[in-house]
Amino acid sequence: MTCNCKCDCKKYVYFFGGNQSEGNASQKQLLGGKGANLAEMAGLGLPVPPGFTVTTEACAEYGKIGRDKLFEMITSQVKQALNKLENVTGKTFGKGPNPLLLSVRSGAAVSMPGMMDTVLNLGLNDETVEAMIKLTGNERFVMDSYRRFIQMFGDVVLGLEHHDFEHALDSVKTAKGVKLDTQLTTEDLKEVIAKYKEVVKKATGNDFPTNPMEQLWNSIQAVFDSWDNPRAIRYRQINDIRGLLGTAVNVQTMVFGNSGNNSATGVAFTRDPSTGANEYFYGEFLINAQGEDVVAGIRTPQQITLAGSRDWAASAGVAEEVRAADFPSLEEAMPACFKKLDEIRVLLEKHYRDMQDLEFTIEDGNLYMLQTRNGKRTAAAAVKIAMDLVDEGLITEKEAVMRIEPSQLDQLLHPVFVKAAEEKAVKLTVGLPASPGAATGQVVFSADEAEAWATAGKQVILCRIETSPEDIGGMHVSAGILTARGGMTSHAAVVARGMGTCCVAGCGDIAIDYRNKKFTVGGVEIKEGDWISLNGSRGTVYQGKVDTVEPELTGPFGHIMELADKYRTLNVRTNADTPHDTEVAVKFGAEGIGLCRTEHMFFEGDRIVSFRRLILVAETVKKLKETYNTKTVDGLKAAICSSNKAEQEAVKQYVQALDELLPLQRADFIGIFKALKGRPCTVRLLDPPLHEFLPHDEKGQQEMAAQMGTSVDEIRTLVASLHEFNPMLGHRGCRLGMTYPEVTEMQARAICEAACKVEGSKPEIMVPLVGNVKELAIQKAIIKEAIAAVEKEQGRKLDVMIGTMIEIPRAAITADKIAEEAEFFSFGTNDLTQMGCGFSRDDAGKFLGDYVRESIYEYDPFQVLDQEGIGELVKIAVEKGRKTRPNIKLGICGEHGGEPSSVEFCYNAGLNYVSCSPYRVPIARLAAAQAVIRAGK
Ligand code: PEP
Ligand code: MG
Repeated sequence: MTCNCKCDCKKYVYFFGGNQSEGNASQKQLLGGKGANLAEMAGLGLPVPPGFTVTTEACAEYGKIGRDKLFEMITSQVKQALNKLENVTGKTFGKGPNPLLLSVRSGAAVSMPGMMDTVLNLGLNDETVEAMIKLTGNERFVMDSYRRFIQMFGDVVLGLEHHDFEHALDSVKTAKGVKLDTQLTTEDLKEVIAKYKEVVKKATGNDFPTNPMEQLWNSIQAVFDSWDNPRAIRYRQINDIRGLLGTAVNVQTMVFGNSGNNSATGVAFTRDPSTGANEYFYGEFLINAQGEDVVAGIRTPQQITLAGSRDWAASAGVAEEVRAADFPSLEEAMPACFKKLDEIRVLLEKHYRDMQDLEFTIEDGNLYMLQTRNGKRTAAAAVKIAMDLVDEGLITEKEAVMRIEPSQLDQLLHPVFVKAAEEKAVKLTVGLPASPGAATGQVVFSADEAEAWATAGKQVILCRIETSPEDIGGMHVSAGILTARGGMTSHAAVVARGMGTCCVAGCGDIAIDYRNKKFTVGGVEIKEGDWISLNGSRGTVYQGKVDTVEPELTGPFGHIMELADKYRTLNVRTNADTPHDTEVAVKFGAEGIGLCRTEHMFFEGDRIVSFRRLILVAETVKKLKETYNTKTVDGLKAAICSSNKAEQEAVKQYVQALDELLPLQRADFIGIFKALKGRPCTVRLLDPPLHEFLPHDEKGQQEMAAQMGTSVDEIRTLVASLHEFNPMLGHRGCRLGMTYPEVTEMQARAICEAACKVEGSKPEIMVPLVGNVKELAIQKAIIKEAIAAVEKEQGRKLDVMIGTMIEIPRAAITADKIAEEAEFFSFGTNDLTQMGCGFSRDDAGKFLGDYVRESIYEYDPFQVLDQEGIGELVKIAVEKGRKTRPNIKLGICGEHGGEPSSVEFCYNAGLNYVSCSPYRVPIARLAAAQAVIRAGK
């Protein structure tokens, strides 16, 4: 789009307000979320203070060509917009008698709360201050605005230390013997201003800038710069926000919530962002305050509605008389403004068809809307709101399915406190239920410590007086967050909800002592490293650990899952190898097992002893078969001369170990088949290299020697003989079955015998790591023989499918041949990625982070399927496999099976199912439904 001056230059500035709007809500990429929605609200005729938005394209240009060139390009557009603003408001920028004061705010296409910077009250200097005093007759308010401006400008634009200003303010408060900013008189504020100016002069060597145009340009630049400040970069990394041009800058006429007791400022959600409840208009405000006071958590905010206020008072232990006198709701304090705001709430929800997060200011009894956007919410709220909006006829079922971020569901699947344990727990205090869930962890008092402890594998609760955007890394790794100050819209609360991390905020009776790393509450002292537990749904804080249980998966969650199931076509199975995991996965909606790894069946309890006995003689048995030119153990038994005791003993030990393992594995399969209740189960035969089952430390080797009745030396020699330089490409997978066919036979038999014991079981036997169809043909023959033997013994037919994993590139490329033998393929994309990209699964961690940072790979290919490379191998195998065997069953069982973008790929590639860990099953179900809807089907 070109600018308004009828030349050909690009349009970088969009005006809104005064019954006109150059932009609208669809232009988030260009105007940022805030700018696009301000334009939309202005277009709807809502009371929006007029202003203009400098586009994200300007920010991108700034990054490329720098300040001077960019400002040269946009100066005339900014000046034109300023003129228009002066005309619409009847005010003059930088001059009396009615000075135009501005706010300058950042706003990217995706909201990044608290990540970037804001300047308020811009345009004040000693001259405009005088004019403002004359105009308003309220000197205190003007001085309060001026000191805020100097502080914000100093902080955001001049890059001065926040605490230098805090220190200056505190010194005046202490001298005057007051606690709250609001208790400072006009004269006190003048002292603060003088001190602030000294801070600026001392730190920069210059006086505070008085030229309003200079203030404006420097603030615009500061907002552009804030796009790339470390906390904004970190926020984008954590939230995987990519591909944005930058931030827009919103320059807007100031309205003053701090101009007296008939003024206020607040934030509100059209529905409860923690639970999704639509009981009352949910939000907080402060009388005689500016926006940042509400989120900074400095004063206790009041509630919007009377009902909300009463609930708040009940949970905070505030008596009704005190509440009504000191903390009245907006509904009580300013009923006319409340009514109007409530009407706007209804209008905006209908207009945007989603829960909105609103910012408003009341100036001398007039309501202004400063922001609306789709509100951030917990997963529980997201699900409830989506389902409620369907019921209210505002959105369709498909839209509801698309409204939930699949990975967000994870928050709903994790444990909550055991009711009885919670009832018995020692309650320390109650704060605000800022972000739901249950968290137990060891207390730490700084974000850095949280990161360090979490890296060391500890579960931590981050305790802060209040959090700030610098704490984002520590908040991200914490199991829970506890703050002493701040309301439901404080930084801690908003960010924790966005992250899905349990948070209790505003626990006013906790005294945190950072220096001595402890807090005290009700006479109890909690030190760094002590365990506490948080109930983020109730706001309770407990001493010690509290037991947790699995959550209920009914209500709106159940409904959204039903909708997902209605629209998806891809089946979702699970990777599970115990009855317990299988039960959990079935509860989460798994339609079968896509990968039952059998290695643990060789590991646990006494099995490892049996298996080690087998390994000890396995090489001898193999050599004996070569010597006696036989392929079977029976052949060996017949061939070995009865006087050769050593050879006889080796074969006996081998057979005995298999005989011991068989019933144990059979019992394992029975347990799993029972838990599956007739759902299919793909069992993978033994996969890891044998040395993984041997002890590598001295003590372990001594123990094994004692158990096996042999010398430590023999064990050492065995371990050394099984050493491989590259075990992932070594003697593993079906290669073990080729060398030790009796293991394949034993496992196939255990599966079949278990199937005979559990009516309705549907076993599918899967051969791992096949690269050549001949490997599969040989293994299949062994399996078929075992099936036939069991069928004969049991006198019944068994329906057992035999297939393979596709995890070697050669297998993918020759899938047409492999499909001649395989009834199903399961893509083992962990190994396929390892071998296809040539990245060791064990070693790639050292450099893959850099690869992702450098955008060589967009994501870690072990987490998110590399569609361009590995995905291509999958597509080739799908096409070739189906050519040979049109009804071949195709699935995926690598880690990617539960990752939403990879699930979508699998749907588009025509797979029949994805298989993932139990906790990711609901995520995969939703992602599979979204894939169908996104494909327009
Ligand atoms: C795979 O390689 O994708 C797979 C599922 O097998 P594993 O991770 O056990 O090697
Ligand atoms: Mg594998």
